[in-house]
Amino acid sequence: MPQRHPQPGAGVSEGNSVGTAATAVPLDVLIVGAGPAGLSMAGRLHHLQSTSSYIVLEREEPGAAWRSRYDRLHLHTVRQISALPYWGFPAGTPTFVSAKVLADYYSAYAQRLRVRSHTTVTAARFDAAAKLWNVTAVNGRPWQYCLSPSPSPSSSPSPSL
Ligand SMILES: Cc1cc2nc3c(=O)[nH]c(=O)nc-3n(C[C@H](O)[C@H](O)[C@H](O)COP(=O)(O)OP(=O)(O)OC[C@H]3O[C@@H](n4cnc5c(N)ncnc54)[C@H](O)[C@@H]3O)c2cc1C
Repeated sequence: MPQRHPQPGAGVSEGNSVGTAATAVPLDVLIVGAGPAGLSMAGRLHHLQSTSSYIVLEREEPGAAWRSRYDRLHLHTVRQISALPYWGFPAGTPTFVSAKVLADYYSAYAQRLRVRSHTTVTAARFDAAAKLWNVTAVNGRPWQYCLSPSPSPSSSPSPSL
């Protein structure tokens, strides 16, 4: 049986065997996409230090979309409201953040979290009998993840948060 709660980093790197094509990895939270929304959610889960297991599956590299933009592109929103939770932009970052700095920031942010890059979610189906979501992702080979729609009370974050 795969472990119920992967340790930090588990399932992130190639060769880290927490799941196989034949074995579903059980998770409490699966986040599709390491854009700012997915990274923010993962950052908050990390910060809660709950026992909830989570993983972020990203089809590219975090920040990749910003590396392919034109050189002079800068955010039009100021740095203070463009940062993700808990880990802001590096000191000295200008008020209007360039696409390159933003890409580096998202990349660095993702490295603190359980993000698996180059992994595309291809299907998500709810098994009503088993009361589980079954998610298929591809990273050179297929991976299976299963999630309960309502995490067990022992793995739920504090209701006060
Ligand atoms: C040129 C430009 C300038 C912008 N400037 C600003 C600005 O100044 N201020 C501002 O607030 N907003 C700005 N925005 C908008 C901002 O970028 C978006 O609101 C924001 O990126 C949305 O974040 P998201 O995480 O919801 O989605 P996305 O950023 O689209 O991230 C989704 C992620 O999911 C991944 N993904 C999708 N499908 C799958 C799959 N099946 N399996 C695995 N991974 C998958 C994608 O690769 C992607 O990394 C700008 C957008 C553009 C294009």
